[in-house]
Amino acid sequence: MKDLKSINQLVEILQEFPSIGKKSATRLALSLAKDKFKALKLVNALENVISNIQECKICGNFSEHEICEICDNPMREKILAIVESPKDIMTIEESGSYNGYYFVLTRINDEKIEQIKNIIKEKQIKEIIFAFPPCVENEAKSLLLEDKLKDLNIEFSQIAQGVPTGVHFENVDINSLAKAIKLRFKI
Ligand SMILES: [Zn+2]
Repeated sequence: MKDLKSINQLVEILQEFPSIGKKSATRLALSLAKDKFKALKLVNALENVISNIQECKICGNFSEHEICEICDNPMREKILAIVESPKDIMTIEESGSYNGYYFVLTRINDEKIEQIKNIIKEKQIKEIIFAFPPCVENEAKSLLLEDKLKDLNIEFSQIAQGVPTGVHFENVDINSLAKAIKLRFKI
């Protein structure tokens, strides 16, 4: 309907976000059109995220500052968990099972390897945990990373069972993830 052009535009944008199909997008758009006060609160929250949130220069986590509060905390353990996304950091932090540092790695390249080497040096990291959900592709990624960092005199470990193969962390219950980190094994 031409008369609903603005709502249709909103539905289209909402559909571009993860886990939102046409049905949910339409429901959301209609609810925002109905409750203008809530819609304005959403606009305000979005503006805050756009102007205040940036990627931490050291680890790639989201932060309100150039350096996130985890990288900025010298009291954390000298362990580095390599994860796939800032969402994984949130999940692991929520599990309370880990008190080291993180690095968000989407794909391996020379720049990322240099960044990881710098963290190892600056934070005196003794152990690297590959905190990827287990699957063939991630195993290859761990092996490649281990090879690139093998001269640095650090231990490598892999999160243990408890995280089912191929399942993303956000779909794993917190207890399983906490157990998987505690029971990590050396590789
Ligand atoms: Zn950071």
